Amino acid sequence: MNTPNLPTQRPQGRFSKALIRMLMKQAHVVEAETVAEGFRSITLESPEFKGLHWMPGQKVQVAMGSAFVARTFTPIEWDAKAGRTRILGYAHGSGPGSAWVSDCKPGDRCDVFGPRASLDVSRVGGTRVMFGDETSIGLAYALSHLSPGIRWECLLEVNSAIHVREVLVRLGLDRAKLFERTGNDSHLEDIERRMPNLDAVGATFILTGKAPSIQRLHRTMKASGVPSSRLMVKPYWAPGKTGLD
Ligand SMILES: Cc1cc2nc3c(=O)[nH]c(=O)nc-3n(C[C@H](O)[C@H](O)[C@H](O)COP(=O)(O)OP(=O)(O)OC[C@H]3O[C@@H](n4cnc5c(N)ncnc54)[C@H](O)[C@@H]3O)c2cc1C
Repeated sequence: MNTPNLPTQRPQGRFSKALIRMLMKQAHVVEAETVAEGFRSITLESPEFKGLHWMPGQKVQVAMGSAFVARTFTPIEWDAKAGRTRILGYAHGSGPGSAWVSDCKPGDRCDVFGPRASLDVSRVGGTRVMFGDETSIGLAYALSHLSPGIRWECLLEVNSAIHVREVLVRLGLDRAKLFERTGNDSHLEDIERRMPNLDAVGATFILTGKAPSIQRLHRTMKASGVPSSRLMVKPYWAPGKTGLD
């Protein structure tokens, strides 16, 4: 059996350690599998996860060696009996979150805050349209299992359609539509063109992922008369900013 190790990105001060003990759940990695280039399915286990009520759309934050440096992920499932949850992490680059996603291995210890409210998708009744990117696939999976009978469209802007397609096939989300990013964001025009038909059936739009893309789609939809009651927005990351939650 592996000996649990704490992530070591930053030495922890006494205050940070006390906060971690008070606010966070001590967990360890039980499985970390590369699903496609850049993507890992990571299963975390903790006795403190047992008996918790989790709703799809909620988030967890994983401490990166300090209570003051955490990165946010979306559980794709939660087994309250076994005390286990699974996330799909995307390692986009070289931040501490990406490094943890790439390097974590069974036996590693980590400290987890949550699950906590993020997007309350449970109140969405009719057709759901989800826009996002690599960081939103966990939400897409959790949503697709929330009410399997409900019509659901998933539109993702991505860096590599080949790699994301591999992930989607593994998760049974092959119906999702992929739009590879272009230098001038013209891929967003393709997405905008699909929105009026979806609006016509009274769909609720759930916009996640990269902040500027969300802002643009939100503006377009407001301008074409989509009411705020059918627009949900949650930026997962923004260029130049670190650790959104
Ligand atoms: C509610 C919520 C749920 C989330 N769920 C998930 C999830 O399930 N899976 C997942 O992989 N991520 C998820 N994210 C996004 C993830 O928390 C961020 O991508 C995180 O910033 C990555 O940490 P980092 O340390 O690698 O980069 P940071 O140190 O935070 O950022 C370093 C630089 O990289 C940029 N950056 C951050 N993310 C990306 C990206 N995806 N692509 C390109 N550049 C980026 C930043 O703008 C910054 O300039 C979620 C975020 C939120 C707020």
